[in-house]
Amino acid sequence: MKSVEFEVRSSKHTQMVDITEKVQRIVTESGVEDGICMVSVPHTTAAVTINENADPDVVRDIIKEMGKMVPWEDDYRHIEGNAAAHIKSSLMGYSESIIIEDGRLMLGIWQDIYLCEYDGPRRRRVKVKIIEG
Ligand code: ZN
Repeated sequence: MKSVEFEVRSSKHTQMVDITEKVQRIVTESGVEDGICMVSVPHTTAAVTINENADPDVVRDIIKEMGKMVPWEDDYRHIEGNAAAHIKSSLMGYSESIIIEDGRLMLGIWQDIYLCEYDGPRRRRVKVKIIEG
């Protein structure tokens, strides 16, 4: 099955955008009941992660602490001026793989999939690859 792509428009410089419903819709439309769903971003200053969907302060805390770990200004050499975004992208990772069971993404009740924006606002592409089996 070919990968499916959709676009996410981030609205802030640093942001975690919940993309779970869009990914689930692609899984549903694929008709695959059991398999693996891989979600990836073809970008060097964005990432994909899975974390809590219930308390929005969790996302806020993740963004805040990542900002402390990798400050925007720190005598970086990268000439484009967004070294911190590149570092955060690598720390979070560019993909997640989620088990599909009975046509549903096997996420915990408190888990959602997030596109992590580290140098927005921008248009971002998300690629979804579904492997049946
Ligand atoms: Zn750069």
